[in-house]
Amino acid sequence: MPRIIPDVLKNLFSKPFTLKYPFEKREPPENARGKPSIDRDECVSCGLCARICPPRAITYDEEEKPIIDLGICIYCSECADACPTEAIQRSKEYELGLYDRSKAISK
Ligand code: SF4
Ligand code: SF4
Repeated sequence: MPRIIPDVLKNLFSKPFTLKYPFEKREPPENARGKPSIDRDECVSCGLCARICPPRAITYDEEEKPIIDLGICIYCSECADACPTEAIQRSKEYELGLYDRSKAISK
């Protein structure tokens, strides 16, 4: 009997490893680096997040609160790690596809 037969039989009756995304979704891990979210009330407008952001994805609005361009963001979480008040948090949100580029912001 060819050696491959036991593997074929085993895989024939086992559950598939992959999921039928987007109909089935896997929960992101606890330390996932999804869309950064900003708590504007906690922000003290220190400017640290914009200075540390590697691709310069962060600018400030008229109230000097951060705006993240998600089309530039590389989801490294450096801003969240640097924020002294924890106003920026990494989230588990990863489905960020958009048709309109102008909506790719987080503030
Ligand atoms: S580092 Fe934190 S507190 Fe400072 S501007 Fe950015 S979000 Fe606000
Ligand atoms: S996650 Fe990284 S790339 Fe995105 S805004 Fe924060 S520091 Fe910039």
